[in-house]
Amino acid sequence: MISKFNEPIMVTRPLLPSLQNINNQLQEIWESKWITNNGPKNKELREALKEYLAVNHLSLFSNGTLGLLLGIKSLELTGEVITTPFTFPATVGALEWNGLTPVFCDIDNVTLTIDANKIEALITERTSAILAVHVLGIPCEVDKIQQVADKYHLKVIYDGAHVFGAKLNCKPIGEFGDMTMFSFHATKLFNTIEGGAVTFKDKTLDRKLQLFKNFGISGPDTVELSGINAKLNEIQAAVGLEVLKLVPEQRKKRHYIKQLYETNLKTISGIRIVTKHEEQESSYQFFIIEINEKEFGINRNQLHEKLKDYNVFTRKYFYPLCSDFTWYHDLPSAQQKYLPTAYEKIETVLALPFYGELTTEEVIQICEIIKFIQKKASTDVLANWE
Ligand SMILES: *Cc1c(COP(=O)(O)O)cnc(C)c1O
Repeated sequence: MISKFNEPIMVTRPLLPSLQNINNQLQEIWESKWITNNGPKNKELREALKEYLAVNHLSLFSNGTLGLLLGIKSLELTGEVITTPFTFPATVGALEWNGLTPVFCDIDNVTLTIDANKIEALITERTSAILAVHVLGIPCEVDKIQQVADKYHLKVIYDGAHVFGAKLNCKPIGEFGDMTMFSFHATKLFNTIEGGAVTFKDKTLDRKLQLFKNFGISGPDTVELSGINAKLNEIQAAVGLEVLKLVPEQRKKRHYIKQLYETNLKTISGIRIVTKHEEQESSYQFFIIEINEKEFGINRNQLHEKLKDYNVFTRKYFYPLCSDFTWYHDLPSAQQKYLPTAYEKIETVLALPFYGELTTEEVIQICEIIKFIQKKASTDVLANWE
């Protein structure tokens, strides 16, 4: 008999520095009496992140969503932007809040990122950009996307909330396209509790973004443009500086856990490991599997529910699909018939618990529980399952 966990195993856990280190940081901030508005911790974090992400230009924000929203605004886009429905609501919301019309493109069956072969057919005279997502840590087909963008003079923006520190073909992920957003929310690999950044090619955007996030104020007596408040404060920056020190070790731990999962899930029929890409240095943000109901015996939802009985909490991604929100679903591109793969994947994709502090025994037990559920399902009467 397989035993359940005594304590719940959650899908993720925030990376937390020692309280002592945070106290030391707070001490410095208290002494300086500079708690927000482009202070020394902010500058230090910006430099540290430019180095870590190997990018030339980076602007910090109070969260990733505002970074993406203002990043898009700084590019002065108009009309329509082609994007993916298989993402977090913030991606598409950042377009809508800029008065842009999202045009949904279906996703690739294997990578789950925007299907680069389907973008061109969606381009109209009103299209100004492509907003793609390196979804669940899997990089987009960046070369194909860039080719289409170049042909039609479109901007390329990446939502890179899941790919902090990842590389693709040995290149840092923030190098692709015109702009990439990173999220530093508590659940992301690197966090500042809440926070985010935008990296970009055009260095003139630096000043513009600075103005946007600080009410448009450019001097004691000047308000240069219509801005908003999206500043990362000194305490968030200090937390970031401490968390960043932990990231290399965390990545190593997650690499080990990823391999352990791969070894132990390999023999189970009907499970495909989604976050496994050879040309990529992983972000280690998620460990994602896909359930093939026919081969596995039960479907993703049933597995997700049954795992709860064993105190294992997994997450369905991305449920519900963005194009299904009532405020988008009248768009022509939001019709289900145009998005068959996205509609299929929201029923099959599952994130397993994944954080550095999971022990070897815990990972093995999770895999044993999955095997047991599968075996039990094949002998039970399926009608008993919800
Ligand atoms: C987390 C996330 C965001 C939003 O980032 P915040 O920092 O929470 O505002 C945007 N897009 C994706 C894909 C995300 O996972």
